[in-house]
Amino acid sequence: MVSPISSGDSPAALAIPLSEPDPSALAERAQRYAALEWLSRPVWVFDIDHKRVHWANTAALSVWQAESLQALCARDMGRDMSGSVAQRLAQYQSDFAASDARFNEQWTVYPDGVPVSLNVRFSGHRLPDGRMCMLCEAEPVGSVAPESLRSVEALLHTAVMITLYGQDGHALYRNPAARAAVFQPDERLEDRVGDPAAYAALAASLTSQGVGTLTLSVPTPTGQRWHELSARQCRDAVTGQHAVLVSEADISAIKRTEERANFQALHDALTGLPNRTHFMQRFAWAVSEAQAQGQEVALLFIDLDHFKDVNDTLGHAAGDQLLVTMAQRLRHAKRSSDMVARWGGDEFLVLVMSADIRKDLAALHDRISAAVATPVRIGDVDARVTPSVGVALYPRDGDTIEILLRNADLAMYAAKDQGRDTMAFYDEHMAQTVRSRTELEAELRHALARQEFEVYYQPRVAAGSNAIMGVEALVRWNHPRLGLVSPDQFIPLCETTGLIRQLGLWVFARAAQQQVAWAAQGFDMVVSVNLSARQFMHPELLADLTRALQQAGADPARLEVEITESMLLGHDPRQLAVLQSIAALGLSIALDDFGTGYSNLAYLQRFPIHTLKIDKTFIQGSDANRSLAELIVSLCQLMKLTAVAEGVETQEQLDWVVAQGIAQYQGYLYARPLPVVQFTALLKNRALGDA
Ligand code: C2E
Ligand code: CA
Ligand code: CA
Repeated sequence: MVSPISSGDSPAALAIPLSEPDPSALAERAQRYAALEWLSRPVWVFDIDHKRVHWANTAALSVWQAESLQALCARDMGRDMSGSVAQRLAQYQSDFAASDARFNEQWTVYPDGVPVSLNVRFSGHRLPDGRMCMLCEAEPVGSVAPESLRSVEALLHTAVMITLYGQDGHALYRNPAARAAVFQPDERLEDRVGDPAAYAALAASLTSQGVGTLTLSVPTPTGQRWHELSARQCRDAVTGQHAVLVSEADISAIKRTEERANFQALHDALTGLPNRTHFMQRFAWAVSEAQAQGQEVALLFIDLDHFKDVNDTLGHAAGDQLLVTMAQRLRHAKRSSDMVARWGGDEFLVLVMSADIRKDLAALHDRISAAVATPVRIGDVDARVTPSVGVALYPRDGDTIEILLRNADLAMYAAKDQGRDTMAFYDEHMAQTVRSRTELEAELRHALARQEFEVYYQPRVAAGSNAIMGVEALVRWNHPRLGLVSPDQFIPLCETTGLIRQLGLWVFARAAQQQVAWAAQGFDMVVSVNLSARQFMHPELLADLTRALQQAGADPARLEVEITESMLLGHDPRQLAVLQSIAALGLSIALDDFGTGYSNLAYLQRFPIHTLKIDKTFIQGSDANRSLAELIVSLCQLMKLTAVAEGVETQEQLDWVVAQGIAQYQGYLYARPLPVVQFTALLKNRALGDA
């Protein structure tokens, strides 16, 4: 027995007798197979287990160029047998045992190095000791063209699985690869395909076009695989009857790559959440589903308040860590039927379907709010962000994903306007007051050059006497069509686009000039200017501030910068250095929005801070909030800081502020932020305190 042409057997090795077989055993075999001895066809019995010829007739001896049966049986056929051939033989052996299998193959043997091609018919044969052997009957191929010899070889060795199915659906022939891929050699095409609908489609295509293709997931002895199957109508070369030639290619590896690519195309690399594309696809599905079931669909746009501060002060790696944690928490906070996706940056989306959407959204918002606001440990810092959530409802607020996204985004801005960490539903007035961010972003780039920004001023007054103690500069954007746009809408955009340094510097310069102008009119007040995190960490900040003060001819002691706690997160030595040099310039420093973030009282000791602005949520909030405010106030007194209450709108709030002993306040009750002309008019009417 030998291997096919390309198995790499050494022809010389086949001719070497290895050991002398037992003569009495040989005689016994000769007797057993006597009936086959005088056949003109070469016939031999191959012992698959021992990889030796067990017996051969005279015609076979001549094919093998063996002097005697003894010499042939002595040859170790396994010595140079390739792994694939050995595997195939083992497969045959089990096929013979499992069913009455027969195979026809064209083989080439190399007795004395000369190739001889044979058509061999294999069938199972049991030895007296019970082992399954192989009976081989050969016919010389004779004048077969080399082309077809090669094609037969290709058929035997290819990884493509080729099967010829007869009219009754049973396999007439399988190449070795096909045999290795089925559990039962007699498996029918219909069983192979499995899914009746898929088989019907294949059969229909075969009937109408003569060909058909199918991709299917199939169980094989080596595990579940993906096969690409193509079938073609043909005739069986032996019987001339109709048959179907099927080739199957294993595309499992391609499928896996495709699945991975698919996953990557639909998921955000950082958080693993579904991405925009995925979300849009899911939305389309949700809408059709909702219509069928009479449900409403809501789209939630979530933006993390103060995320940019964390990112700017602790660095991008910390920002990424925070986003990953938020993604996990959002995933847990949603119901299993909702979808959470990352829209980009610190923005997330949730798709909700429900029959009672307002109730479900209220519960969902509670969970999201609690999940997001829990501090995240990054290094040795507890970073804290809160969610501002905008909601747009389908179909009420729009019937396309684009409109709904825009409206949810607008509602999210309304939530920010309402003091952050809250949820706002879209209503149609929002569209008139605010614009989508992409529109704004494009327009913002020109706004500075077109002088569309203006600084408004809001007085800071003594709580007891209402004397004006100072003033906060608050920037406004006079949009040519939209009118006044609130800084909560465009400051974050300026931060992402990098425009903030220019804008912030412009506001500071205007404020310094205005301080000088008012002082000249006898109103020498401290003017406070807000600094953003980006500006704060900019290496040129000090140079910028110094130049602006000099150009305005302003006294640094009459200016103040407002920073937020989140800018002081972490232990970056630069923060202290920056604050110290600002203080060294002569400016005073206020800690803004105190209480909303970390309320880390250690800052007050570590950094040179003069003023503490208590956030309006404490002033306007519940009693529980207010008790923390009381603590803050007593601390200010202890540390000799000026406490300022923000957002005082009612007399009742002012009474509370006074009762607490908070020194100063700002709020609509006294005055809203005003343009210079109106503010100057107000100054002329009211008393000015000694700052
Ligand atoms: P902020 O620094 O906390 O400013 C106080 C905000 O509270 C102002 O909002 C002010 O108009 C508002 N406010 C004052 N009194 C009351 C009141 O009684 N009730 C209520 N509900 N609100 C009151 P505004 O002007 O819309 O500014 C929003 C935020 O935008 C500011 O918050 C500040 O963080 C930022 N911002 C404003 N101007 C600048 C700037 O020039 N540079 C930077 N970096 N940020 C700025
Ligand atoms: Ca402020
Ligand atoms: Ca504030």
